[in-house]
Amino acid sequence: MESLKHYINGDWLEPESEEFTNVINPSTEETISKVPEATDSEIDRAFEAADSAFEDWKRAPAPERVSYLFDVIEVLRDRRAEIGKLITLENGKPLSDGKGEIEWTTDVLEFFAEEGKRISGEVVPRNQAGARSFVIKQPLGTIVAIGPWNFPVDLLIWKIAPALAAGNAVVIKPSQETPMAITKVVKAFDEVGLPAGVLNMVHGSGGETGDKLVKDKRVDKIAFTGSTAVGKHIIRQSASTLPETSMELGGHAPFVVTQNGDLDKAIPEGIRRCFSHAGQICHSVNQIVLEEPIAEEFIERFVAGTEDLVIGDGVENPDADLGPLTTKAGLQDIEEHVSDALEKGAQLLTGGKKPAGSEFERGYFYEPTVLKGITDDMDIATEETFGPVAPITVVDDTEEAVRAANNTRYGLAAYIYSDNTNEAVRIAEKLEAGSVGINNNSVCRVEAPWGGWKDSGFGRELSSHGLDEYLQLKHIKFEFTVE
Ligand code: NAP
Ligand code: MG
Repeated sequence: MESLKHYINGDWLEPESEEFTNVINPSTEETISKVPEATDSEIDRAFEAADSAFEDWKRAPAPERVSYLFDVIEVLRDRRAEIGKLITLENGKPLSDGKGEIEWTTDVLEFFAEEGKRISGEVVPRNQAGARSFVIKQPLGTIVAIGPWNFPVDLLIWKIAPALAAGNAVVIKPSQETPMAITKVVKAFDEVGLPAGVLNMVHGSGGETGDKLVKDKRVDKIAFTGSTAVGKHIIRQSASTLPETSMELGGHAPFVVTQNGDLDKAIPEGIRRCFSHAGQICHSVNQIVLEEPIAEEFIERFVAGTEDLVIGDGVENPDADLGPLTTKAGLQDIEEHVSDALEKGAQLLTGGKKPAGSEFERGYFYEPTVLKGITDDMDIATEETFGPVAPITVVDDTEEAVRAANNTRYGLAAYIYSDNTNEAVRIAEKLEAGSVGINNNSVCRVEAPWGGWKDSGFGRELSSHGLDEYLQLKHIKFEFTVE
């Protein structure tokens, strides 16, 4: 089986190292590719290429820079099915979600291609006659972008698109769990003639290649999406070189439904936000908080809806509701969270095991699971589960609901369902999260800033705020003679 190649300075390079990791299809446990570990000299070349390409790229007119993004969009639209299928093979999400990820990717590219033409500065009011102050925005230099396996293409594009539009050079490291689809996307940049060195890709594991990239003194910014533990580690590793950083980290999203919530809307939307992508989205629901008067009906209908979900190999069944967990380690973590909760007194309402049937004998499948009677001492109450598990807590009033929702060190997203506008807005204002959905579960939009509070990180992606993360401000003051 051929190994994936690094992409450095516009060339696809045969890996120097003999060290490879297998890429596994989580639906079948078959090896589908091999990913190399970058050597020191390959990493060195990637940084040299980025450094030298930056000189011309930063000076290129904005319309010229973003024209490459527009061209890549065309290529990706043509290859949506092919690349979407690779996402399904390496990540496990159903084919409709794999293709959906490419659609979302082209939306993000389009937004930053347009926004990249509108990088304006300011003229500051003068504090003396005969002086003018301008504030201009300039690119940072070399960006290291590291992404997780749950959206293997999209979350790297969230970084690549604004970084390039703003005039930076980029070195990416995909997760070694899911390096195949993003490699095809990098190929699209190559095919449309992006100047050599502006975008480079080195493969390897987080612990080795990732670690070397973030410690390198040539890095001007680290753009990271992944777990909170690794994010904190990267900040420690890069402290002595002080690059800019943006940290999109873990989440523990609460889903609050008050007695004024519309259950016909809240139940299907809750099921979707708990279980799509097998619960492996940073803003997946990790805690359902129900006000007592609606709890019984909500739970009964929620469990019934959960039991109707279709699990499957996403290639065989493109429209399945959910596929397997992406990694074996992820499956083990979920099993541990569920048994810890059950040992400490939680009630299992459905799921809690591998689905029955010969098609699930292999693969990291786990049934969508609903638990009730959650207490603070359970890991699931405060730690991110990152799997298809919905823990339910019933509370007496909305004050208790807010307390339960905020009782986590994370703060990425939160949801509140109530048709009483006063109540809904009052609760939304109190929820400690970077994004809050009132009567909806889709708070992640390219036009709005995305990012976390508390241990969910800092910095914002998407929107014009996401573009500003790749620019630095410069104040230029000049004086002139007043007549
Ligand atoms: P992870 O284990 O933290 O890995 C993320 C990336 O970091 C991977 O590319 C990984 O490489 C790399 N990495 C690991 N150790 C490293 C090190 N010492 N130095 C540099 N890089 C290192 O996270 P994951 O399990 O892939 O992803 C799931 C997590 O991402 C969840 O916590 C989820 O909530 C979070 N997430 C957050 C957002 C958001 O917008 N806030 C979005 C999506 C996901 P390898 O995989 O190759 O080892
Ligand atoms: Mg895999």
